[in-house]
Amino acid sequence: MVGVLALQGDFEAHRRLLDGLGADSREVRTPADLAGLSGLVLPGGESTTMALGAAREGLDRALPAAAADGLPMLATCAGMILLDRDHLGVLDIRTQRNAFGRQIRSFESDVTLEGFGEPMHAVFIRAPWVADHGPTVESLGELDGHVIAVRSGRIVAVAFHPELTGETRLHRWLVDAAAAF
Ligand code: GLN
Repeated sequence: MVGVLALQGDFEAHRRLLDGLGADSREVRTPADLAGLSGLVLPGGESTTMALGAAREGLDRALPAAAADGLPMLATCAGMILLDRDHLGVLDIRTQRNAFGRQIRSFESDVTLEGFGEPMHAVFIRAPWVADHGPTVESLGELDGHVIAVRSGRIVAVAFHPELTGETRLHRWLVDAAAAF
């Protein structure tokens, strides 16, 4: 069972994608919803709203605990921000919000991610980039010289929205990691 953090943002698109891969999913709004999960998606949306919701529900402690237990996670955009040093501290990364410029609300580009084969078509929406990361975090890919995808153990975080383009490889990775958990 894969959970999709559903405090805010486009969690429904992630559930549809998982459905298409034949993976059962469940919405996560409280620490109790994490019980029995073998993987978790943290969707894009608005990181400030998500961080407030996480603190209100006690997920600000439960999510780092789940990560410490090795729960595989796929975080996208605001989900990546939520995991950073300044928020839940799950990933040793510093993200810069709206890094590509507030005016450039949205753009598309092909990006190559280490270990994921052919370039993927990526949609960036007021996207962050990874301004700095520690030694436990590996960069998986860059755009214009800025890190836009990272991996740390069983957690992959990307700055873009794979759920909007029919890109399935990142979710496939999560489903496979969940099966092995
Ligand atoms: N700019 C948003 C934030 O800082 C993230 C945007 C997104 O998730 N598409 O929370």
